[in-house]
Amino acid sequence: MSIVLLQLPEVKYCQTARPRQCPYCAGTTFQRWGGTAKRVRDPNLDEAWVYRYRCCRCHKTFRYYPAGLDRASQTQRMRALAAIGWVLGMSYRGTSRFLSGFGIELGRMSIWRDVQASAQQLLQGRHWKPVRVLGLDGAYVRGWGKTQPVLVAVDLGTGQPITVGYVDEKDPQAVKRFLEPLVQRLGVSVIVTDDLSSYKVVAEALGVEQQICQFHVRRWVGRLVHELKETLPPEWVEVANEVRQLLRDLPPEGDKRLVALLRQLPPSQTGRSGNEATPLDQLRLLIVRLANNWTHFRVFDWQPEVPWTNNPTEQVIGKMKMRARTVRGYKTWPGMTSGLMVAGVGVV
Ligand SMILES: [Zn+2]
Repeated sequence: MSIVLLQLPEVKYCQTARPRQCPYCAGTTFQRWGGTAKRVRDPNLDEAWVYRYRCCRCHKTFRYYPAGLDRASQTQRMRALAAIGWVLGMSYRGTSRFLSGFGIELGRMSIWRDVQASAQQLLQGRHWKPVRVLGLDGAYVRGWGKTQPVLVAVDLGTGQPITVGYVDEKDPQAVKRFLEPLVQRLGVSVIVTDDLSSYKVVAEALGVEQQICQFHVRRWVGRLVHELKETLPPEWVEVANEVRQLLRDLPPEGDKRLVALLRQLPPSQTGRSGNEATPLDQLRLLIVRLANNWTHFRVFDWQPEVPWTNNPTEQVIGKMKMRARTVRGYKTWPGMTSGLMVAGVGVV
């Protein structure tokens, strides 16, 4: 099953209802000031009728467009179709051919502009909608010269991308600069991330809760415990097993149990001899790290609507990357933002 999430806006031939407010002043009463036919580019419509109104307060006149229309000759539906073609993986040229199947001739440049315009709409539409739970994850995307780091923010209520930043997720200062205006504008109270330390630092600085993606933690802990079982002195293998089991069960007081396990282990020998970390040291570090982060593993338990993994964000990034593979590298940051946003909303 395939769901197109870029919705096709409705397009009306004519708007008979009167405008509510003057675009120039607070005026609310108008005289109709004639109308004209406007030729439009749309799969179902050749022309539309646009009334002009005159404001009784400031006496300025303005066109009042029917739904789905604005100053451009392409309807909003047409622009969305062009963006959908592109999201489905077509080149600008291919999208042009795809649209000609609807009897519409659009050049590559105007399709490029349509993709940009759809992205702008996506970015603007998100500004005022509150987002309580925000997923964040970094990715690398082929761009000018080399791969470029991006940070993707996803509304975990809707699974839709909010914005992408030209930000390296490992740099706490950069992550903070990116996140702070989002937190303020959208009213974010929880972020869901992986366990990179930069996210922890920033969440504390901005006073938001942080849920650490459990899928991510289980993956690396599972791998490490698997290795440790081969290398640890046999008497400590059970401790490694219990650590992994605690992570699976996520009991509320798991951190206390971890500290108790840590106390059972013999004191570290590393440092004194300057040797590499032994398997026992690795186990110790693992336990300390998990105990320190424990409260961030369980935010979903007491905060409503917080997922216990960051999968929705990873899915958005997956869509962005899939599209980025067939684009021969984005050439500029604005082009990359638009491409990623439109691709991230994408087609499920
Ligand atoms: Zn006015």
